[in-house]
Amino acid sequence: MIDQIINYNKTFVEQKGYKKYITDKYPDKKLAVLSCMDTRLTELLPAALGLKNGDAKIIKNAGGLVISTFDSAMRSLIVAIYELGVKEIMVVAHSHCGACHISYEHFHHEMIARGVTDKTLDTIRKCGIDLDQWLEGFKDTPRHCCQRIHH
Ligand SMILES: [Zn+2]
Repeated sequence: MIDQIINYNKTFVEQKGYKKYITDKYPDKKLAVLSCMDTRLTELLPAALGLKNGDAKIIKNAGGLVISTFDSAMRSLIVAIYELGVKEIMVVAHSHCGACHISYEHFHHEMIARGVTDKTLDTIRKCGIDLDQWLEGFKDTPRHCCQRIHH
């Protein structure tokens, strides 16, 4: 799949397909959107919000969550605010999210089945990662955040 994408990109660049997307690093609407990485939202999210290239910083992860004060989503939001001029932040969830109802027990079972050992998981815990909490999903999309997008 990656080879196909690289070939497509080569043609895209040769034909200057990027020209209509040129903008700068500052979001025109001074907006950041934290949302889910769900593939159903790839085009739907900006379309549903009326956003075009250059309008907003869109930060995505599994579930559209800030897990802790120092996680990647928070780091991106801090950069967006202090470096890129963001003034407003929207958190947008969606129905039937794959990150809803996930549990550490499920991940543990899958990781062990793929060859990860409990010794490795214990080593991660010793590094200060609370795997049970880190890999836990949220239980209820409506309470997770405002529901402004439905698909
Ligand atoms: Zn989701």
